[in-house]
Amino acid sequence: MPKRVAFAQLSSCWGCDQSLVDLHLRLLEVLPQLQIMYWPAVVDYKLSDLEKMPKQSIHIGFVEGSCRTKEDVHLLNVMREKSQVLVAWGSCSCYGGVQGLLNQWKIDEAITRKFLKVETITDPRVPDENVPGFTDHIVPNPDLVPFELIIPGCPPTSDNIYDAVVALLTGKPFDLPNRTVCDQCPREREEKHITEFHRTYEGHIDPNKCLLDQGYLCLGFATIGLCGAQCPSANSPCKGCFGPPPSIKDHGAKIISALGAITDMSPEELKKMFPDPIGSFYFTDYAASFISKITTTKEES
Ligand code: SF4
Ligand code: SF4
Ligand code: SF4
Repeated sequence: MPKRVAFAQLSSCWGCDQSLVDLHLRLLEVLPQLQIMYWPAVVDYKLSDLEKMPKQSIHIGFVEGSCRTKEDVHLLNVMREKSQVLVAWGSCSCYGGVQGLLNQWKIDEAITRKFLKVETITDPRVPDENVPGFTDHIVPNPDLVPFELIIPGCPPTSDNIYDAVVALLTGKPFDLPNRTVCDQCPREREEKHITEFHRTYEGHIDPNKCLLDQGYLCLGFATIGLCGAQCPSANSPCKGCFGPPPSIKDHGAKIISALGAITDMSPEELKKMFPDPIGSFYFTDYAASFISKITTTKEES
């Protein structure tokens, strides 16, 4: 009997859905085993269709995106109520995503900047009709409701999604590995004594040597190895979009402590090299960091 599945989209860019569609012909292998009950990205379902379904009537629910609006929070809770197995799909869902970087500011400051002060706006006003309202902070979805599975990645690769769907259909475990992107990277590594960092457009990158050894900030050493090291293999440093492996509790803190060990540079020199450390070290998972949680708790108390 096919498994009843639902795909819900909270605030996000739709890239995770795109990664699923990128399975192309391999989709044909899994589609006959799925009965799609809700997927507004490709079929004109309404939220009310989902709300009307009996509790636990969906075998597997996939949630993409994070809760930036109050409607997102409602949809997440409805998905939890209707799904037997709930999957956090992509780094937005697992960790808060790029939009979590906004946790550095209060929501009122962000609204003012976005709707009233942005340089290109000619009619500054905050929309207040037919809109659900914003959440105060981005919180990783697994901090809001329980999930049975997380598939990180911005987006997860098509192979990751295929493996997870097959595991779910066959009842096999889909455990996240403790390996890093470095473990999957073919580049030669040396003992590190970095004295300077370069932007990726500066200098000439040796295609065989470790990018970090060459002074390019490659975060593969602190990032879970699920993507097959696709960026360093294409001569581009890893930005850490899959978040950390399970053994690392805070991605950016790990990166900062590692930089202390592998560079021959003072904190002041490092600060000059990375004027936006949060953006550089927590590309998709700032909302899941200790520092974001501490700041949020302080604001609320
Ligand atoms: S995880 Fe990345 S690709 Fe997926 S919805 Fe979020 S921003 Fe888009
Ligand atoms: S290039 Fe990046 S991913 Fe590859 S070994 Fe060096 S730090 Fe690790
Ligand atoms: S190499 Fe790093 S930035 Fe590139 S896809 Fe993999 S985890 Fe993301």
